[in-house]
Amino acid sequence: ATAARSSLRVGLIPADGIGKEVIPAAKQALEAVSADLPKLEFYDLIAGWECFTRTGVALPEETIETLKDGCDAALFGAVSSPSRKVVGYSSPIVQMRKQLDLYANIRPVRASNVDMIVVRENTECLYIKQETLVVGEHGKEARATRLITEHASRRIGQMAFELALSRPRKQVTIIHKSNVLSVTDGLFRETVRGVPKLAGVNGRYDGVTIAEQIVDSAVYRLFREPEIYDVMVAPNLYGDIISDAAAALVGSLGLVPSVNAGDSFVMGEPVHGSAPDIEGKGIANPLASIRSAALMLRHLGYAGPADRIDNAVDAVVREGQVMTPDLGGKNSTNDVVAEVLKRV
Ligand code: ATP
Ligand code: MG
Repeated sequence: ATAARSSLRVGLIPADGIGKEVIPAAKQALEAVSADLPKLEFYDLIAGWECFTRTGVALPEETIETLKDGCDAALFGAVSSPSRKVVGYSSPIVQMRKQLDLYANIRPVRASNVDMIVVRENTECLYIKQETLVVGEHGKEARATRLITEHASRRIGQMAFELALSRPRKQVTIIHKSNVLSVTDGLFRETVRGVPKLAGVNGRYDGVTIAEQIVDSAVYRLFREPEIYDVMVAPNLYGDIISDAAAALVGSLGLVPSVNAGDSFVMGEPVHGSAPDIEGKGIANPLASIRSAALMLRHLGYAGPADRIDNAVDAVVREGQVMTPDLGGKNSTNDVVAEVLKRV
């Protein structure tokens, strides 16, 4: 939604590891297109594992309050996770998604023959984490509850249709397993299918084609013929798997952006993690974060500046002259940032 804003307030949360190296790069990309944006205001915020070890909280009150009351959007770097469960620690990204109601995870994936967006429902399904373990007659029995609601399926469906409208092919593929889970996946499928018929939508999605696919065959076809997909929409768990599988179609994790989006807030986040193996070496690929910044702008309704950033990144990737080691190059993070900025 494009709103007439007098300023664009962006929270910056580099968090851990290479997040601290790539979020400043994304900030520079935003500054480079600032002439075409409302006045940019940045807020430096802390969260994450390092923050937890220092302060005892992974997501300080001040960070969440600033995001809620002072920001239109945010960029999040990456969070390291402890190898064992630590009492009192829970991932700040999960907390932020809840508190800001970021119900959609959106991941565009582009490569030579691929141009798709995976839209993952982010609040329910098996992720409600209702599990039980009992000892039955033949040993332990573990159960998990899976929640699918009409409300969540409808809003994620609508997000997928809206995204499809802005794309040349305008196709939504619903991912489900309703041949086995006819009640839960059946509800997801029917609800998403029903989005174009909702009251108030008024033929808005008439030009969008609806396809659907059983999740297992969707993964198979994702590897065999990824070009068939445009917008894929899926419940949380299938979406998790599909979006990582789709990211594998691209050369490096260092290229894949995402946003966590709700109706009133959007947070850009590179798909990669904190990459402790290359932390502090100045060689992290900044392109996933720069693309996340562009995606964030696009979601806020600033398609022009978003295109300029994306086109600059695409040109740098296509030319292949200046690349970080994950893409086979010898350049630093800063070299790549400079190359992108030159072209914005
Ligand atoms: P985490 O627990 O934070 O997810 P991880 O060890 O799983 O950390 P990832 O960040 O997921 O690390 O990265 C997996 C691999 O991909 C690592 O070898 C990492 O160096 C590499 N990688 C990830 N992101 C980038 C990037 N932006 N630039 C270069 N290499 C990257
Ligand atoms: Mg990882």
